[in-house]
Amino acid sequence: MVAEVRERQEGNLWEMVTQQLDHVAALMHLDPRLHEFLRHCKRTLEVSIPVKMDDGSLRVFTGWRVHHNLAKGPAKGGIRYSPTLTMDEVKALAMLMTWKCAVVDLPYGGAKGGVVCNPSELSDGELERLTRRFTSELILLLGPEKDIPAPDMGTDERVMAWMMDTFSMNVGYSVPGVVTGKPVNIGGSRGRKEAPGRSVAICVEEAAAKLGMRLEGAKVVIQGFGKVGSVVALLLHAIGCKIVAVSDVKGGIYNPQGLDPVRLTAHKRQTKTVSSYRDGDFVTNEELLQLPCDILVPAAVERVITERNADKVRAKLIVEAANGPITPEADAILRDKGVFIVPDILANAGGVIVSYFEWVQDISQFFWTEQEVNERLRQVMRRAFGEVWTIAHDRSVDMRTAAYILAVSRVAEAIRLRGIYP
Ligand code: NAD
Repeated sequence: MVAEVRERQEGNLWEMVTQQLDHVAALMHLDPRLHEFLRHCKRTLEVSIPVKMDDGSLRVFTGWRVHHNLAKGPAKGGIRYSPTLTMDEVKALAMLMTWKCAVVDLPYGGAKGGVVCNPSELSDGELERLTRRFTSELILLLGPEKDIPAPDMGTDERVMAWMMDTFSMNVGYSVPGVVTGKPVNIGGSRGRKEAPGRSVAICVEEAAAKLGMRLEGAKVVIQGFGKVGSVVALLLHAIGCKIVAVSDVKGGIYNPQGLDPVRLTAHKRQTKTVSSYRDGDFVTNEELLQLPCDILVPAAVERVITERNADKVRAKLIVEAANGPITPEADAILRDKGVFIVPDILANAGGVIVSYFEWVQDISQFFWTEQEVNERLRQVMRRAFGEVWTIAHDRSVDMRTAAYILAVSRVAEAIRLRGIYP
């Protein structure tokens, strides 16, 4: 019921992503057979998950694992626990993972999974039993050479540790490479937690260099001061940017002279919010998006910049840390205003890139220093940014379209080279 209401409000994400593919396929004159191939998910597994609840009752949860396309390698994608999850949402997110992996040229195909549940209403024991039974139901798909889940909304490194342990117990030996985003102590990678924020900061640097924008003193507004947004603030502050406003779900704080992200982080740790920080003026999230600044980083939730507020955005550069923060209608308005946008599938790809590094380290049983992880992340991001920029320039398209052209062409080429079985 909740899912139905949300689908009516937001439109169907699966329809949106297939339309996006159709648009790019037409632009790049994609072979219609490959286009048709890519419009479908390779496999969708629906499972029922019986869980003994703490009060002695039994609840059966529904879960899915979807593989969109595996032409470039094993399936990679997060596990989402959400009360409003639908199969179409999981399919759409799996397709987006195919493009995200391809745009940064990782040897992976796109996948996604999840369970319809509200993790905040489950006890630790219920959450663990649900996760272990879900993993068992998926076991025919999983494996370091087949399908490697990671955390997503509603799941974390603890859930990944349970998934890894359940898989390992079933095969009889430890298989750390079956999931990524694990605690470092059991095969996780150094630098994984900061990676999405770090790739966003690298995109700010790359874009500023291309646009001739000075970062020293550049004014930055960040919506969302969570795992991604807080890292972006710290990294951009460290290279001389002025963080003039940040926010969380309760609202934001604005100081045109600049805020200190280290003190903000400490304040948030103590009070659980940045909105009560003293050294600035309170602003709502709506006002925050319209503040005068050079760089805007939406790092909270999807669809915050819409046709209602896009023409009031004053930033010259927007780097999408959140997934889908700009609606297609707003995208067109911003493009007409000359705002340069680095799209989500490129900007926040740091998470999946360092997940790839984690998988490589687990398989080789040889672990890298944080500095090595960060340097390799920068290399991958700089190469991908440069490739997207070149397509945007050569074909006179925006960076989002260019990123999709690059991703779709890589996956289509992999299918063409392998041929269509049988
Ligand atoms: P998080 O939960 O740690 O932080 C989200 C922040 O946004 C919090 O400060 C929260 O208070 C704020 N927020 C929530 N709803 C809001 C609203 N309606 N208006 C304004 N602020 C709001 O989440 P995160 O991991 O930092 O993820 C943020 C975004 O980045 C999401 O879109 C996520 O999909 C995307 N992302 C995350 C990762 C990752 O590995 N964490 C990787 C890639 C992309």
